[in-house]
Amino acid sequence: MKDPIFLDNAATTRTDPEVVEEMKPWFDERYGSPATLYAMGAEAKQAIEEARQRLADLIGADVKEIYFTSGATEANNWAIKGTAEALASKGKHIITTNAEHHALLMPCRHLEKNGWEVTYLPVDGEGLVTPEAVADAIRDDTVLVTMAHGNHEIGTIQPIAAIGAVTRERGVTFHVNAAQTVGHVPVDVAELECDLLSLSAHKFYGPKGVGALWMRRGVRTTPLLHGGGQERKRRPGTHNVPGIVGLGKAAQLARNRMQSEAKKLVELRDYLIEGIEKGLDDVRLNGSRSERLPNNVNFSIEGIEGESIMLSLSYPTAEGSRPVYVSTGSACVSGTLEPSHILLALGVPVEMAHGSVRLTLSHENTREECDYVLETLFEVVERLRSMSPVYKRGASKCATGNDNDGCDCEAAG
Ligand SMILES: *Cc1c(COP(=O)(O)O)cnc(C)c1O
Repeated sequence: MKDPIFLDNAATTRTDPEVVEEMKPWFDERYGSPATLYAMGAEAKQAIEEARQRLADLIGADVKEIYFTSGATEANNWAIKGTAEALASKGKHIITTNAEHHALLMPCRHLEKNGWEVTYLPVDGEGLVTPEAVADAIRDDTVLVTMAHGNHEIGTIQPIAAIGAVTRERGVTFHVNAAQTVGHVPVDVAELECDLLSLSAHKFYGPKGVGALWMRRGVRTTPLLHGGGQERKRRPGTHNVPGIVGLGKAAQLARNRMQSEAKKLVELRDYLIEGIEKGLDDVRLNGSRSERLPNNVNFSIEGIEGESIMLSLSYPTAEGSRPVYVSTGSACVSGTLEPSHILLALGVPVEMAHGSVRLTLSHENTREECDYVLETLFEVVERLRSMSPVYKRGASKCATGNDNDGCDCEAAG
């Protein structure tokens, strides 16, 4: 099998070779626990603090406000459950959106089962919520607003700074899940006016299993875990030293590369979007054209299943062809055949939601790879549609929302 083309970078990224190099000595040469006072521990402690500084520099934070975690899932759980518990005597109402990652949705659901009330603000057809909608939903007993900065599935970037201004004015704690944006687009915690921010190293060329929660000084949360005194007594457990060192290196690389990388990704992204819209009938771009992550392409393709496309692309049968790895939505839900709740939240019809593919780029992808992917995708779609009992070319242009101008839905029936 030839080299795969990896277009699933919203799920995870390849750890950068420079990150791997930086991590190596911390496994088997400098393996002391940072909690100890002898030299091998002290140097691990110093490495952690250097990583903390590098991460703080990337997101415009104070080093003392960064807490290392096992990833964005833990950071979200801590931010949401910790805030809810700390402020329970003040109120038990939380606001989020109906298009969130499971790592944010499920902690909210958990609280809902335990006496909290959660408002799920509906997103519009592009996946956006407005600051006005947030303002209208805030009540006297609202203690937390929590949502993603960039949506992992459709790439929509929320107007976080404007929403932050609302929550600040109303005195409500604001948590942002920035797992998809940190390291890819500028994220500055001061500009975003949030109080808590989650991030994950493996989403920006760092290692898996490590992330952080940034917590503004003075914000009230209870700890998620109880144990030793690590992370200023707020997140116990022996530090994942190699992981944290890797996160710090990834943050440093991102700071240097982000601007040029984003420019390249936007070019490739738009090349894929244009290519798909020109090359295939009856497709719908999901998400926003303007407020979009630089690396995200998400299409609903009428008449076929996303799973069939994904499997055909990843197990090509022709001699010498390259596997192409894409996703049919969030990795957490693509194990099931339920249509994505995020696409349904946009108003994508159920049949169209079933036929969705997500292509997410990394800075290592090339124009040649995109050409290969487009050509292969067109072949796969053509073949699957020719076997599809439900697909009729052009039959539901209106339903796809693809061609609203000049499309007379009534006349089309
Ligand atoms: C990947 C991701 C997560 C989970 O991050 P982990 O570090 O893998 O736990 C949460 N939210 C979003 C938006 C993500 O993309």
